[in-house]
Amino acid sequence: MQNFEQLRELLSSPKRIVITSHANPDGDALGSSLGLYHYLATKGHRLTVIMPTPMPSFLNWMPEYDKILVYDATMTISKQIIEKAEIIFSLDYNSLSRIDSMEGALRDAKGYKVMIDHHLDPDDFADAMLSDTTASSACELVYQFIDMLEDLDSLNAKALDSIFVGLLTDTGGFRYATSPRLFRIVADMLERGVNNNVLTDLVFNSYTTKRFKLLGYCIYECLELLKEANTGLIVLTQADYKRYNIQRGDLEGVVNFILRIRQIRCAAIITERRDIVKLSLRSKGDFSVQAICSKYFNGGGHLNASGGASRKSLRETVDLFKKVILEEYKEELTK
Ligand code: 5GP
Ligand code: MN
Repeated sequence: MQNFEQLRELLSSPKRIVITSHANPDGDALGSSLGLYHYLATKGHRLTVIMPTPMPSFLNWMPEYDKILVYDATMTISKQIIEKAEIIFSLDYNSLSRIDSMEGALRDAKGYKVMIDHHLDPDDFADAMLSDTTASSACELVYQFIDMLEDLDSLNAKALDSIFVGLLTDTGGFRYATSPRLFRIVADMLERGVNNNVLTDLVFNSYTTKRFKLLGYCIYECLELLKEANTGLIVLTQADYKRYNIQRGDLEGVVNFILRIRQIRCAAIITERRDIVKLSLRSKGDFSVQAICSKYFNGGGHLNASGGASRKSLRETVDLFKKVILEEYKEELTK
């Protein structure tokens, strides 16, 4: 880790610290933020967790979820807290463009900036940086960071549970992005008392009936297969959002189900938001959806899981996606 000793020294006495993560925070964003929060809280720091946009409600049981500030809803106070922070952590994102309206506040902030992240192509905005694209999750790196501080014994149940959530969600329950290092960490966490069964149940068996039926609708009514390119896509319109009262987090993970079809190597969900069209892509094997997202949809992420957005209409975005797949990637997807 770049500038680790400098950061260790800074953390050796109580500081005003802000912990941030990306817009539309997922399990890894929340897990890494709350995990680090609960760890640093044992050291007497003054801590605030700030997310750019609201959190998914299916994780509302996480310890101190209610204490997290949502920047968009608390702009004046959050801005002041960011201004006054001596240390600012950026977890699970590596570009200020991922934090929406919070970008300006972070850019202007005078505090010491720390990035802990596992996405490709990090921007250069942090003073200290732990960036590792081979890590399953930001949570894995938070754990590694605390290990580097030789302080794993300070992790309490709240910190351990929070960190475990990000390991679970970013690996789909230890099905992808796994490694020997991850499983060693998992083993260590289980020995420290983490209950995998309880947390897996809380994270994955947490659908409301409405959300479960929406998944059925997406698969049954909205799935389109580009069989000649081993690709599947689900498209949702604003009318779908209204008709099914789709809320934040309701579509989390839907795109992964497309990969359950044996032949499929690339999957997408394309959703018409109020002011933007959002794309969420997944792939199997060495096919890079990161390349597609960064080249065509102002986005990025990981080789097998990436996202992006488009200011074109839904129709034009879907057409562009299909065109790109069929004209540029068909061969790679069928070899
Ligand atoms: P999801 O599809 O679950 O929203 O995100 C998958 C991965 O892509 C995540 O690691 C996420 O951080 C990244 N990602 C999602 N949307 C964007 C985006 O608009 N821009 C960039 N750079 N990355 C994104
Ligand atoms: Mn992540």
